[in-house]
Amino acid sequence: MSHFEKYRGRLAPSPTGYLHLGHARTFWVAQQRAKANGGELILRNEDLDATRFKMEFVDAMLEDLRWFGFEWSEGPDIGGKFAPYNQSERMNFYRAALENLRAGNFIYPCTCSRKDILAATRAPHANDDDEPIYPGTCRQNRESEIGNRKLSWRFRVPDGETISFEDGNSGEQKFVAGKDFGDFVVWRHDDVPAYQLACVADDAAMEISEVVRGADLLVSTARQILIYRALGLTPPKFFHCALMLDKKGERLAKRHDALSLRKLRELGETPESLRQKFFIST
Ligand code: GLU
Repeated sequence: MSHFEKYRGRLAPSPTGYLHLGHARTFWVAQQRAKANGGELILRNEDLDATRFKMEFVDAMLEDLRWFGFEWSEGPDIGGKFAPYNQSERMNFYRAALENLRAGNFIYPCTCSRKDILAATRAPHANDDDEPIYPGTCRQNRESEIGNRKLSWRFRVPDGETISFEDGNSGEQKFVAGKDFGDFVVWRHDDVPAYQLACVADDAAMEISEVVRGADLLVSTARQILIYRALGLTPPKFFHCALMLDKKGERLAKRHDALSLRKLRELGETPESLRQKFFIST
């Protein structure tokens, strides 16, 4: 068991497109695990990225989830004791976390653009997530010297330290800070909290005992463990599901419209038929 007595899992979709089969499969595992542990499942709408998300996707997301057979006991549509469940309404939590990281000197202001970073980096993709290893250009920056240039806040990783954790699905995982991942953004230059920070702040505040998500986020889990540590919080347990690949062996992305739950439903598939074809249903 984790440090929480009760099993609490979560579904945390981002409304940037229609949900596809890959989401449904990971979420199904999350739901099964919550049930098997006699726990609760909550729904959190990860709608921070206003440039990418659209309101129509929020409604579609709720509808598709219900259609498929997901049931949550707390969420943006029904409330709950850890409300609100829309990330866009939880800025105070993220600002508080940012302040704590700042007070503890875990982060520094960074003025690099993505272009600067790619130009300064020889091996842009050291791992299978999209984040290039940050070359450390702004590590010595002080906020007072930056003036009114746009800045993001970056977490200074302990170079050379191995971050390890036990994954409920694939066993022990190890990532070396500074090698497998570098200093990462916790607050974006457009004044939006980054996924890493928002996720930790919310999973902690909502007392999530186990995080079930895709294996593409394994490296992010190592990053998030550093944030938990810096904030003096105990991380939940983690269970990363294998990603669903298409026929060409490529990851299902939201743009693979043919495999969106909507499309499949239009084509006459039912949740039962899809579960049978694609899920290990327990
Ligand atoms: N909103 C994130 C996503 O859709 C959630 C990731 C997570 O489960 O931590 O990828």
